[in-house]
Amino acid sequence: MTIHENVKEILHNITKAKSASQKLSVIAVTKSVDTKQTKEIIDAGICHIAENRVDSFLKKYHELEEERLTWHFIGNLQRRKVKEIIDLVDYFHALDSLKLAEEIEKRATHPIKCFIEINVSGEASKQGFSIEEVRELLPQFSKFEKIRIVGLMTMAPIDAEPEQLHKIFKTLKQLQEEIAKKNITNIPCTELSMGMSRDYIEAIQEGSTFVRIGRNFFK
Ligand SMILES: *Cc1c(COP(=O)(O)O)cnc(C)c1O
Repeated sequence: MTIHENVKEILHNITKAKSASQKLSVIAVTKSVDTKQTKEIIDAGICHIAENRVDSFLKKYHELEEERLTWHFIGNLQRRKVKEIIDLVDYFHALDSLKLAEEIEKRATHPIKCFIEINVSGEASKQGFSIEEVRELLPQFSKFEKIRIVGLMTMAPIDAEPEQLHKIFKTLKQLQEEIAKKNITNIPCTELSMGMSRDYIEAIQEGSTFVRIGRNFFK
């Protein structure tokens, strides 16, 4: 199928899965394709673009400067690279340590919209805070003036069954609502970044507001 056809099919699936009032941004993860294919997806109507490596982020960002896009960084970000990109990123999805937050605080020249990454399923191989850790760290995150915690992000295990996926996404939604209710300075926490090619339907059904889709757009 062409990229246009993939976009049409995925947007159709999304419309069926979401509730009428659900706000949802569809992010194209372009880490495995070049600028030409990225341009095709933009022409098909997608204006949220995500990369997971600093070099490819910068390359595409500059090659696509003419376009009106919202830029997402979804990968693990090394502290020494923060200064190279942080001011260009509209949404940073992988805030996974206090040390990284401190570096962003130091380098950003305006408040950056960030998602705290949560390892809901407790997989040893995954980045992110546990639910308990994040509850404890909220007062510290609140102090950063260059970090606005807009929401929570998670990645479900690759081999999770639908039932487990629903459970993981529901758990993240509950935590997001719990934090939002606290009305903490710099932590509105109204958004949920969850759902990838293999599990975006389940994530949307559980209230996702940002889905990050790669492979399915470019297959
Ligand atoms: C690659 C990636 C995605 C997209 O995954 P697909 O399976 O290609 O849809 C989403 N989120 C993160 C953090 C990724 O690294």
